[in-house]
Amino acid sequence: MTISYVGLGSNLSGSMTDPRQQLNKAVQRLSEHPRIHGIILSSFYSTSPIGPKDQPDYINAVARLHTELLPLELLDYLQEIEDEHDRKREERWGARTLDLDILTYADLQIATERLTIPHARMEDRAFVLVPLLELDADFFIAHGKSSAELLANCADQGIVKL
Ligand code: ATP
Ligand code: CA
Ligand code: CA
Ligand code: CA
Repeated sequence: MTISYVGLGSNLSGSMTDPRQQLNKAVQRLSEHPRIHGIILSSFYSTSPIGPKDQPDYINAVARLHTELLPLELLDYLQEIEDEHDRKREERWGARTLDLDILTYADLQIATERLTIPHARMEDRAFVLVPLLELDADFFIAHGKSSAELLANCADQGIVKL
């Protein structure tokens, strides 16, 4: 059994629901999987978009979960959930109904065409760091990094706890 952290984000309403409900629905779908257990969800945060600025603010959160899925199996399932939410893959970092990223998977480090773990940009993003540290304030100690320093480096990124 492996502990994985998953980042969740949404800044577009889908056919039936708004961003917050989409994150809730995504967490429900995660918990329904027979090989995903013990999900703990951070608070929701309202965050300013990275990339193109002409898009709505995001709702972001981080989930901690236990899984017996292999990393690519977990990614497949996350993308299946995104597809259920009519996720379109258009402009890079453009608006989306749902984005589910694997942040970490135990201490695994891989860089393949489909999957890089830890997520390549997670340490530069307040919308990942803040909810992650809410779930585990000591997260970066094992990695020899200072969470205060990481947070200071993205102090200019707008983030508000909801
Ligand atoms: P970013 O990766 O900067 O957060 P994004 O989430 O908008 O950007 P997507 O369009 O959702 O990017 O994903 C592009 C591809 O990234 C996916 O098809 C997937 O194969 C790949 N990918 C690589 N590493 C990961 C990861 N750790 N979690 C999720 N997808 C990943
Ligand atoms: Ca389950
Ligand atoms: Ca992402
Ligand atoms: Ca993604």
